[in-house]
Amino acid sequence: MIPVTKPFLPPIEEYQKYVNDIWKRNWLTNNGPCVNELELALKEKLKIDHLLFVNNGTIALQLAIKALKLKGEIITTPFSYVATSSAIVWENCKPVYADIDPKTMNIDPISIENKITKNTTAIIATHVYGIPCDVKAIEKIAKKYKLKVIYDAAHAFGTIYNGKSLLSYGDISTLSTHATKLFHTIEGGAIVTKQAKVLKTLAHMRNFGHNGSEKFYGIGINGKNSELHSAMGLANLPYLDNIILKREKDSKRYDSWLLKKELMRPEIPGDTIYNYSYYPIIFKNEAICLKVKNELEKHEIFPRRYFYPSLSTLPYVEKSETPVCDNICTRILCLPLYYNLTASEIDLICRLIIRTLKY
Ligand SMILES: *Cc1c(COP(=O)(O)O)cnc(C)c1O
Repeated sequence: MIPVTKPFLPPIEEYQKYVNDIWKRNWLTNNGPCVNELELALKEKLKIDHLLFVNNGTIALQLAIKALKLKGEIITTPFSYVATSSAIVWENCKPVYADIDPKTMNIDPISIENKITKNTTAIIATHVYGIPCDVKAIEKIAKKYKLKVIYDAAHAFGTIYNGKSLLSYGDISTLSTHATKLFHTIEGGAIVTKQAKVLKTLAHMRNFGHNGSEKFYGIGINGKNSELHSAMGLANLPYLDNIILKREKDSKRYDSWLLKKELMRPEIPGDTIYNYSYYPIIFKNEAICLKVKNELEKHEIFPRRYFYPSLSTLPYVEKSETPVCDNICTRILCLPLYYNLTASEIDLICRLIIRTLKY
């Protein structure tokens, strides 16, 4: 069986070393030494000043919306994982969908500007597949209309854009370190912001709003993560560069088979050092896309329709016109990409795809 992804696992002894120390300390959660060590290591690795490790990427988004006190309408992308939209609705705001750029699959700045009303307070955009949004254009719109910007950077770990981490753009960027992501801590997420005040608010909110044991700054939630999850991150992090290199090699192997065909790939903007977090491929139409998916599944290969359907069709949001997204959603597949995927497995997948395209 070839799934779309498999979590990277470090050598068990390397995880065990952290676990032994955790047992000795008998300290499992509540801002423990592994959490602190992981936060420092991530800041160093990503070359960013501030980062808070939290229990998942969805809570990271909800905390970001809460900390920026967003209300009313938030312009967002219909082409993302459901958590980008559900977080907005969960925080009592209304998602308004801008369409996407058919080249990068990211939110289209022109469409953002068209959807702004007097109730708009923010833009929440996803760096889909780790490909940078048009951060310059988005910043310009945000300045012009006094909007906050949150990037759902769940796919963006390790991508460098214009010489700095893609996580350093916007008011806040959120990460997911879920087991299916490029860098993982089993479950987990992080929040990145340059703004000291927002960082402080987020730190309190992550810990029930506590100000010492008997006082409170304000409302909070349990956004903390554990020593055991942090230990997985610490054990995984030394392998990150190799993981990215391996994915680059695999992506190029896919390219060499598939790019000559009638298939499209999202475009990566210039001045990007890409993280190769996914391998999406776009077919001519939905029928062909589904035919390929069925054929691969017959051979126990499981690509994923990522993302499908358009988030603007969720049962709890107001429908918007997003024709580009609605179309691309129906004909995009992410092909298997993970550390232990072999060259011959890639060749098999590509042969099956090419054969299916011919008939
Ligand atoms: C994975 C993911 C999330 C959610 O992260 P969790 O850690 O699973 O809560 C949010 N947005 C995007 C784009 C994702 O891919």
